[in-house]
Amino acid sequence: MMDAVALAVALGAVQGVTLERDSPLGELTTYRIGGTAALTVSIDHVEALIEVGRILSEADTSVVVLGRGSNVLVADTGFDGVVLRLVADFEAVSIPTVGAAELVEVSAGSAAPLPVVARRTAAAGLGGFEWAVGVPGTIGGAVRMNAGGHGSDMAASISGATILTLGGSPRWVGVDGVGFGFRSSGIAADDVVLDATLVLRPREVERSEAEIDDIVRWRREHQPGGQNCGSVFVNPVPGEISAGALIDTLGLRGCRDGTASVSDKHANFILSEPGGAASDVVRLMARVRAEVLERTGHDLRSEVRLLGFDAEVAEAAGARPATPAGH
Ligand SMILES: Cc1cc2nc3c(=O)[nH]c(=O)nc-3n(C[C@H](O)[C@H](O)[C@H](O)COP(=O)(O)OP(=O)(O)OC[C@H]3O[C@@H](n4cnc5c(N)ncnc54)[C@H](O)[C@@H]3O)c2cc1C
Repeated sequence: MMDAVALAVALGAVQGVTLERDSPLGELTTYRIGGTAALTVSIDHVEALIEVGRILSEADTSVVVLGRGSNVLVADTGFDGVVLRLVADFEAVSIPTVGAAELVEVSAGSAAPLPVVARRTAAAGLGGFEWAVGVPGTIGGAVRMNAGGHGSDMAASISGATILTLGGSPRWVGVDGVGFGFRSSGIAADDVVLDATLVLRPREVERSEAEIDDIVRWRREHQPGGQNCGSVFVNPVPGEISAGALIDTLGLRGCRDGTASVSDKHANFILSEPGGAASDVVRLMARVRAEVLERTGHDLRSEVRLLGFDAEVAEAAGARPATPAGH
């Protein structure tokens, strides 16, 4: 096993890799709160990632891949492990010329932002990914979480993804092998999504762009801005009972714990303040979850990935740690 110094030396020797020690991690998330990461590794092409994966598979450290951090909450004490960030080559999106074919495949790199892919495919005359315009994550994070909205999700949008298990080689996994569930997938903590293939249909640009405008307008009207990670709790019965409606009926809009508060605009959003504490957010998550359980019998689970929290804290908040050991 390698110690931390040997690990940093080995990773730093890989071409296409940039290392930062003790750099701010919370700032890389949409919550913009939380501490630092012991080691942040930015990787700009796939061969470098394979080599990094080989080195990490021999090291005794927690590893997490970070996309845009729009579903991650970082502990105030930070994360004592390795954060992988995919950049450069991983941002590529390849859109073929739209011809007479009924279905068109678009290859999107794991670091490509969903709003960019939604707008670019719409502008190229391809429909089917408009729903993703308001989801501020990456393709990789969206596959992992089975992100969705407005009647669709990643499971309905892709034919498969390229996945690398750290220590191994990239492999193609067809959509049925990804293990998609509602806002979840079977992708393991040491699996890295490299790209996904979207399957879209030719559509008039004006129609796709009008749909995008409607979605953006709807989001502005119904969702708060500021520091948050979108919906905190997964709907207990998808399509029938929404977590937001349960929280709302208990009158919890606006309730607060220190620097964290339940949004007045959308009861399933928990907001933080600039300079806020992640500990306030998880305490409020736990309180909302406990009240909903006691008064409605629904045991809410959170889709937010907690990074650097103790397993018991994550469990009380109804969330899963972003790494198996919960480091
Ligand atoms: C304002 C707002 C609105 C939102 N609206 C929606 C919505 O409508 N629908 C919805 O589903 N979600 C929504 N979200 C949540 C979030 O945007 C999605 O879950 C998104 O898919 C997360 O992508 P990310 O790149 O930010 O992933 P991150 O938050 O960085 O990571 C999330 C998880 O995915 C893993 N991960 C990230 N990249 C990879 C990769 N390349 N390979 C393997 N694992 C990876 C991480 O390790 C972590 O476990 C919203 C969030 C915000 C802030």
